[in-house]
Amino acid sequence: MPECAGCGAHVTSDYHRVFSARDGELKACINCSSNRVARDAGRSEAGSM
Ligand SMILES: [Zn+2]
Repeated sequence: MPECAGCGAHVTSDYHRVFSARDGELKACINCSSNRVARDAGRSEAGSM
């Protein structure tokens, strides 16, 4: 099963194909994205969640 290179989470082959970089490596998955979004939101708008 394909993995995210960013966090190591398993992703579907469809997801990997669509979101992987040109070198075939998935740099970030929805996990990474949501985590980053959550962190960014917490940093820039503390307490808004
Ligand atoms: Zn990931």
